[in-house]
Parts: sequence; structure tokens; C-alpha cells
Amino acid sequence: MDKTDITAKMDALIAAAKRCFELGLQTNAGGNLSVLLNSGAAIVIKPSGVGFNECTRENLQVVHLDGRIEPSSHKPSKDLDFHLDLYRIRDDIKAIVHCHSPWATGYASANIEIPCLTVQTIEKIGRMPLIPLSPQGGPQTEIEISPVFRDPKIVAAVLANHGTVGVGSTLMKAQYLAEIIEETAQIAYVRDTLLAAHGKTAADLPRYGTAADARAAG
Ligand SMILES: [Zn+2]
Repeated sequence: MDKTDITAKMDALIAAAKRCFELGLQTNAGGNLSVLLNSGAAIVIKPSGVGFNECTRENLQVVHLDGRIEPSSHKPSKDLDFHLDLYRIRDDIKAIVHCHSPWATGYASANIEIPCLTVQTIEKIGRMPLIPLSPQGGPQTEIEISPVFRDPKIVAAVLANHGTVGVGSTLMKAQYLAEIIEETAQIAYVRDTLLAAHGKTAADLPRYGTAADARAAG
């Protein structure tokens, strides 16, 4: 394995995890993030029980796409299988940021899909499907998550009672999605609270299009 690549990917993951923690997108040791190595055959991933702010080159794990874990004194993340599966089913996914950010998770736990209501969200995400709990009422696994991401247009999703998933061609792109999802949930909450206070609904508002729509309309 390419040690230089592993070190570079670990450092990128540590930086993204720190940014998530500092922005309040993930507290404690929940959530997870991972990145594909250049070989495409293995990933670097945060293990179970390690906080986003405590990731180091020593505690991050290298896991092959077939599930083999390079020697590590840490337990693998509960989310490892869905991370591996997303890399297997989509060539364009090279990084995943999954966090339990509170506003987005609140929406999902109320069984409400977060509306893509800002210009940026419409352009960068398009739609963020809500993925319900497993039929047994447990947390979502690859069985619930992978079918949603088989649609190549989907780059973000929200898991009921659980958290968010952003995917991208780099860790920074996946990280930005994690931030946009949470920001959009906050904006949606403010909008919907104000609309309700004023006896209005989203149907009373003009429809926001994209910059491309505006250009096309001349
Ligand atoms: Zn989780």
C-alpha cells in the first residue's frame, strides 16, 4: 500500500473531522467519516469510540473494500459497512461525511424531508432524501442507505433519528455538503416557524429557481 497516500488521506480526514467538531456538526464520538485511497481498494476511516476532535494518524483505521481491516487496536465503526458499500456501488464517491448534526437530524426525526430551499442547496444538492429507520426500528444500514445512493444524482441524504450523509469526490466536497445540509435545516426551520406564526404555508411563496433557470429564462 502507498504509505504517502495513506498519510495524506489521514491528514485530510483529521482536518475535516476537526472542522465538523468546531462547527458543532458532531459532538462526542458519534458520526463517522472516511476517504478512499488512490488505489481505490481501501479506505481510511474513523474507528468506533473516537471523537471527531480526537482523530490522529495512530487511531484511524485502514480498511479494504472487501472488509479486511489492517491491524488496529480500535473497534471498527458501526457505520463501516454502509461506508464500504457506498464506495462499492458508486465510482464517483471518494469520500463520505456522516454526522449527527442536530437541526438536520431533528427534521429527519420528525419524518420531514428537509426542503432544498436556498439557491445553493438547489444547485449543489437538488434533493436530500429522508431515509427511514430499518423495518425493525433500528439504525439505518447499507440495506436502507445504498438503494437511495444508487441514483447517481443523490449526493446527500438524511437518516431518521440518526444523522446526515454527504458524499463527494473529495473529503472537502463531502464536508461542505454536511455543512450545507445543516445550514439548510436551520433556514428551513426559521422559515417554517415564521410561516406558521403568520398563518402562511410554503405554497404562498414564490418558487425559487436556480441561477441556470434564471439564465435560461433570459
Ligand atoms: Zn451514525
